[in-house]
Amino acid sequence: MDLLERQTELRAERRALIETLRRGRPGAVTRPGRRAEAGSPELRQLRRLELALKRIETGAYGLCMACGGEISPGRLHACPATALCASCKGEG
Ligand SMILES: [Zn+2]
Repeated sequence: MDLLERQTELRAERRALIETLRRGRPGAVTRPGRRAEAGSPELRQLRRLELALKRIETGAYGLCMACGGEISPGRLHACPATALCASCKGEG
């Protein structure tokens, strides 16, 4: 697993998300009555990206936060910000 590559991907995605949020989420599906802050998918994803970047720094990246097992490289490739292995996520 190439951590530097993952880090670059995560940073790029984070930058793009921040841009999207700044521009007022064009094309985003907004539900009436829903507050934009806590519930927005973009902010949740942004939070996941921040945490993934932090885990790269601390060396915990690629390990499942629930069971401590290794997350498969294929899964990390498909979703670099994931913090759970497939079985803990209920996909296993
Ligand atoms: Zn797990």
